[in-house]
Amino acid sequence: MERKYFQPEIETMPREEIKKHQLEKLKWQVRRIYENVPMYKERMDDAGVKPKDIKELSDISKLPFTTKQDLRDYYPFQLLAVHKRDIVRIQASSGTTGKQIVAGYTRNDLDQWSNGFARQLVAAGGDEKSIVQVSYGYGLFTGGLGAHQGSEKVGAMVIPTSSGNTERQIRFMCDLGSTHLCCTPSYAMYLGETVKEMGVKNQLKLKAGIFGAEPWTEEMRKQIEESLGIKAYDIYGLTEIMGPGVSYECEYQQGMHICEDMIIPEIIDPDTGEVLPEGSFGELVLSTITKEGQPLLRYRTRDLCRLDYTPCACGRTHVRMRKPAGRTDDMLIIRGVNVFPSQIEEVLLRNSIEVSPNYQIVVDRVNNTDTFDINVELSPKFNGDVEAEKKNLETQLRSMLGIGAKIHLLRPKSIERSEGKARRVIDNRKLHD
Ligand code: ADP
Ligand code: ZN
Repeated sequence: MERKYFQPEIETMPREEIKKHQLEKLKWQVRRIYENVPMYKERMDDAGVKPKDIKELSDISKLPFTTKQDLRDYYPFQLLAVHKRDIVRIQASSGTTGKQIVAGYTRNDLDQWSNGFARQLVAAGGDEKSIVQVSYGYGLFTGGLGAHQGSEKVGAMVIPTSSGNTERQIRFMCDLGSTHLCCTPSYAMYLGETVKEMGVKNQLKLKAGIFGAEPWTEEMRKQIEESLGIKAYDIYGLTEIMGPGVSYECEYQQGMHICEDMIIPEIIDPDTGEVLPEGSFGELVLSTITKEGQPLLRYRTRDLCRLDYTPCACGRTHVRMRKPAGRTDDMLIIRGVNVFPSQIEEVLLRNSIEVSPNYQIVVDRVNNTDTFDINVELSPKFNGDVEAEKKNLETQLRSMLGIGAKIHLLRPKSIERSEGKARRVIDNRKLHD
């Protein structure tokens, strides 16, 4: 019989028990962090809060926030809550935004993180008979080893191809009969495109894909599913907390279940820091309650989303987070208007017959005014009027964003493909500041 959950007793734990478990772990964690991490002791003392003041779950809001800047300021080891000799692994962020940060894991931390990913693989129909191709990058980025160790934990056969060498990837996929593919959604799009060019779709044995590490839209999901003949699952994670497996989709795909036995999520107003009522849209804040090596309290992810506590048809009781709509620091302010790359992507995908979703935003400042250009590839099948298509896209974008952008339609394949996270924005204004 197909396995439904990886850890049924945890994944379907009644809400009351989850809360009890969270409170117990939170108290334990706050105490040891207070005793072992000088930055937290100082901040808690400043805020006038002691470990004994954590009496119920809502007391978490008395604790100070942690930001990415803190991880930079206390780089590399000053936030460890254990001795360095107990750290068995170091990973680093992909460095999408500024200087890299590192995270140290104990043996238990790696084990827990593996459980997070293993829950995803099983939810995506994986078991010990699965053949998992890991095409996330391995070098320091958490994607590769995160997917790798989680799949091994399920007992699957793992093929650690890492990213790149795309045609060889696809040959392996066909020859070894990979059933599950793990990579960034950008790379999945590229793989899909290459499968088509090689004409080997009918040789694939793929059933499902586990894609995350960057935002992607429902339209992109449909394109990937179609090009590779699979069901595509969304997985979320960040180096600061653990890596892929912080939250994951079940077969109903109505948001990603957060591993609440390891993490307490909150949603705050990114401007005021105030905790928002259940169901509100805002910045996701995560506290690691079981992590030993580099535990974080109230870490501000800068990812914008909402939490859904309604019961899920899959039987899992852990809260679901809706797909992050972007990061607070992904947001571009162009001529005073807030612009998220995901809005542009949505418009392009709506026009997928004419253009491909490969695009790049270029922002600059000329004579004190922001310039806003978007390079977009035409679809290989396009045979219409380029000028008319350009006007059409410009009109749709203006109504989506509230400001005008200049569209440049390029020949298919002229924008460089990404093997990891896509680089969608080139903001040259920063260079001049
Ligand atoms: P970096 O900040 O250098 O990119 P990471 O590689 O740790 O570092 O990336 C973590 C970030 O990636 C998250 O904070 C989030 O913004 C993004 N991310 C990860 N998974 C997803 C996902 N499934 N959907 C949207 N964004 C995601
Ligand atoms: Zn579910």
